[in-house]
Amino acid sequence: MKEAEQGQFKKTFERMVNEVVSTRRCCGCSMCVVTCPYGVIKYDPVSMSPYVAKPKGGFAYCPISEEVGCDVCANACGRLGSECMKPIKPEEIDVRVFGRSRREDEPYGVMRFMCVVRSTNSNVVTNAQDGGAVTEILRCAFNEGIIEGAAVAGPSDKMWLDPVPRVVKSADELIQTAKSWYTYCATPMALKEAVDKHKLKKLALVGVPCEISGYATTLGADTNFTTADRGEKNIEKQNRHLKQYVEAVQVTLGLFCSETFVFERFVYEYLQGKLGINPQDVVKVNVKGKLIIDLKDGARIEAPLAEAKAYKRAQCNYCGDFSAEHADISAGGLGTAGWTMLIIRSVRGEEILKRTIEKGYLQVKPVSEFEHSMRLLKRLTETQRKRAEEQYREFR
Ligand SMILES: Cc1cc2nc3c(=O)[nH]c(=O)nc-3n(C[C@H](O)[C@H](O)[C@H](O)COP(=O)(O)OP(=O)(O)OC[C@H]3O[C@@H](n4cnc5c(N)ncnc54)[C@H](O)[C@@H]3O)c2cc1C
Ligand code: SF4
Ligand code: SF4
Ligand code: SF4
Repeated sequence: MKEAEQGQFKKTFERMVNEVVSTRRCCGCSMCVVTCPYGVIKYDPVSMSPYVAKPKGGFAYCPISEEVGCDVCANACGRLGSECMKPIKPEEIDVRVFGRSRREDEPYGVMRFMCVVRSTNSNVVTNAQDGGAVTEILRCAFNEGIIEGAAVAGPSDKMWLDPVPRVVKSADELIQTAKSWYTYCATPMALKEAVDKHKLKKLALVGVPCEISGYATTLGADTNFTTADRGEKNIEKQNRHLKQYVEAVQVTLGLFCSETFVFERFVYEYLQGKLGINPQDVVKVNVKGKLIIDLKDGARIEAPLAEAKAYKRAQCNYCGDFSAEHADISAGGLGTAGWTMLIIRSVRGEEILKRTIEKGYLQVKPVSEFEHSMRLLKRLTETQRKRAEEQYREFR
């Protein structure tokens, strides 16, 4: 009660469902599902949100939360803060990931340095989204024994345009999972599969900012945050379950992102219905001030980005993080024409990138050669933070 009086509330399953999921502010990152120690919640890949698999009460009722004490999921949710109807503050997550919060002279979040890179392998450059940096950092991490698996996105069996969470277990498989899908793909679900099913212990996680911040929220978390009267066994089980995912991740690679599109509407209503594209023919989608769609036969179709924005997920309006502010390394292709811009934020991110460059996987340019891209980064970062602030203002 004392907490509530101060405007600080415990993070509970009930709050997560009522304040995040049912208000459509849930980004769909799936971290609550990944970290649930009892399999109570599952992930619906169509609505992109969690649901109680075998409901024994109302929509917001979890028997373990109410009867045993748990709420691990709520403490892994980046969109649930300790203030009512507010997300966890980015500065709070900074401390968990980097040991300190961002300084005033760090406009893009905590960082060590920036650079612009491109793969030295022409096959990767041809088949990646921008400069192939993400693919090459993962390739180096596999070859150097830093990771034994990576949680990424990849095409489904249905068609290239339909992304699914994918566990990659060797450097050779990476190229099939390169490029960007502009519809949502909950890559933390691949982290779950890698740990639970494949028993992998050293992993990389690739994701859009909300997925990386979701993962980062669990860092340093201890299930003692929930009620103390759960009994030793339950506390131990919950801690063990949570930590196996936290500790398996050796590096996180975040992708710049300002929105994703609703799959059915974007693919069938827009690409197929309005632009007359057969979805089965698409081999790449890019956003460079406009929408660029590459087809199997080599044809390229361009359309105004403003048109595609009509298919944006409403959930993205609550997102103020453009540059994956809690990743070890963030990557984007802001006007860098065939190169990838990187923001290196952590010591382990710096070590992995340096190794990737030393081993010859990447060529590097200083960011000072990309003034226009830096201006774009500043503008998009500010616009996105403002967008989220405005959305949350309605709850004040
Ligand atoms: C939804 C989305 C929006 C983006 N918006 C911008 C933007 O506005 N401005 C900008 O500069 N950059 C944006 N990016 C990042 C950009 O498209 C590239 O991913 C980035 O520049 C890295 O390029 P690369 O050639 O190094 O990556 P690659 O070597 O091609 O590797 C890309 C990696 O991203 C993974 N991936 C692809 N799609 C998804 C997805 N939907 N969810 C999770 N992982 C995925 C792949 O599995 C692969 O591991 C966006 C990316 C995504 C997925
Ligand atoms: S409270 Fe615990 S058991 Fe219930 S959904 Fe959340 S993590 Fe799962
Ligand atoms: S953890 Fe992610 S998927 Fe789960 S409720 Fe929060 S935002 Fe939604
Ligand atoms: S804009 Fe934000 S919420 Fe939307 S997909 Fe990108 S990172 Fe997630």
